[in-house]
Amino acid sequence: MHEDRPAAASRHFAGVPSSPGVAAGPVMAPGDPGPGVVVAAELAPGDVAALDPASVVAVVTAAGAPLSHASILIRSLGVPAVTGMGPAILAVAPGTVVLVDGDAGTVCVAPTVAELQPVHTRQLAMTERLDDARSRAAEPAVTRDGEVIPVVANVGSAEEARLAVREGADGVGMLRTEFAFLHRSEPPGEDEQYRAYRGIADAVGDRPLVVRTLDLGADVPAWDPQPEPNPALGNRGLRLALARRELLVPQLAAVARLARDRPIQLMFPMVTTIDELRSARACLVEVAGGVAIEIGITVEVPAAAITAEVFAPVVDFFAIGTNDLTQYTLAADRANAAVAALADGLHPAVLRMIAEVTKAAGAHQRPVCVVGELGTDPVAIPVLLGLGVTSLSVRPNAVARVKQVIRGVRLDDARALAGAALGAESASAVRTLACPPA
Ligand code: PEP
Ligand code: MG
Repeated sequence: MHEDRPAAASRHFAGVPSSPGVAAGPVMAPGDPGPGVVVAAELAPGDVAALDPASVVAVVTAAGAPLSHASILIRSLGVPAVTGMGPAILAVAPGTVVLVDGDAGTVCVAPTVAELQPVHTRQLAMTERLDDARSRAAEPAVTRDGEVIPVVANVGSAEEARLAVREGADGVGMLRTEFAFLHRSEPPGEDEQYRAYRGIADAVGDRPLVVRTLDLGADVPAWDPQPEPNPALGNRGLRLALARRELLVPQLAAVARLARDRPIQLMFPMVTTIDELRSARACLVEVAGGVAIEIGITVEVPAAAITAEVFAPVVDFFAIGTNDLTQYTLAADRANAAVAALADGLHPAVLRMIAEVTKAAGAHQRPVCVVGELGTDPVAIPVLLGLGVTSLSVRPNAVARVKQVIRGVRLDDARALAGAALGAESASAVRTLACPPA
C-alpha cells in the first residue's frame, strides 16, 4: 500500500502540533501490531477509536488539524501527534524510525543518537509535571480568591468516564454520544443506549452528568451519510436530529429512563435558533413523560452566542463549544491544516462571543461551562474565568493540569485580563497579554 507514496526528500518535516509530548518509534500503518508511530494520510474519528493505545506511541498525518474530532480523540489517548504534514511524509518507508515532537509540530526521520538523547529527559519531565498535578487532582480547583471552579470531563464511553473519575474530574460535562453511532449498519436503539448511559452514570456516581444529544454530521459521518456540498455548514447536530426524529426520540427516551433514578442534564449541540431549541424541548417533554431533566445548549454557532439572551430564559445552563465557535466565527475549517493557525479560540472575536454568553447567563443566573479544547489551554484559562465562565469540561488526562492552573488564578486579575483581551487586536496580542514575555 505504500508503493505510490512520493519519495522522501528531507529528514526533517514540520506540521501542526496536535497532541503534546515527544516519542520515537518505527513507522507503521493504523492497525499494525506495533509498537510504532502511526503515519497516515488522514484519520477519521472512527479510525482513531480503532487504534490500540498499547501499540501506538505517536500519530502523524499528512492532512488534519488540532481541532478535528480525530485530533481530539488522539489527545485523549495521551500520545504525541503532528497533523498537516503534507503528502511528503507518506514517502517514509514503514519500519523507519521517526522522532515525533507533538509540542514543536515536527517529525525527524531516522534520528541520530544525539537527536534522540533529549527524548527520555523530556518524557521524564512531562511525567513529573503530570504526577505533581495529579497529587492534588482529587481536591476541588479553588482560585486564589476562594472561588470553586468545577473541572468536569468530556467522555465518550464508560471506560473514559471511569478514567475521568480516577483523574479527579468533578463529573462529566459532556458525554459525546455520537461515537456509538459509528461503524454500524443501523443506529443503536433505546435499550442499547440506555444500557450505555447507565454504565456511564454508574462510573460517574453521584457527580453531575451532562449528556449531549447526538452531534452527527460534518467530520463525524453517520452510518448512512447523505452527501452534502459543505457538511460543516449542513445538516449537522440538532438540525439533523430534528430532521430525523427516529434518531432523536430513542435517545431522549433512553436519557429519560436514566433520569428516573439520577439527575441528568441534557444538552443540544449546534443550536442556531430558538425555534430549534423549542422543538427539541417539546420532543423531550413528549418522550420524558414528566421526568425532570435540566436542559442546556452548546453555544457553537455565532448566531446563538450573539442572541444568548434569547436562550437564557429557556435553558438551565449554557455550554460553550469553542471548537466549532472558533471555526464558525473565524471561517476557518477546524480540520484543515492550512487555516489551523487562524483557528485560535483566543481571537478577540471569539472572546466577544463568549462574553455575550456569560453576560446573558449572568443576568439569568445560569452557569456557563466551556466544553471545547480552549478550556485545556493554560494561557486561555484565566481569560475564560475572567469572562465569567463558571466551569471547564476537558479530556480526562487534562483534568489534573487544568485544576492546577486554576489554583494559580486570582479572579480580579483574570477579569482585568479578560477586559483587555476583549479590546485586543488579534489572538497573538491576547496571548501576549495573558503570558507577557519575560
Ligand atoms: C465544540 O465544538 O467545542 C465541542 C465541544 O463539540 P465538538 O468538538 O464535539 O464539536
Ligand atoms: Mg461542536
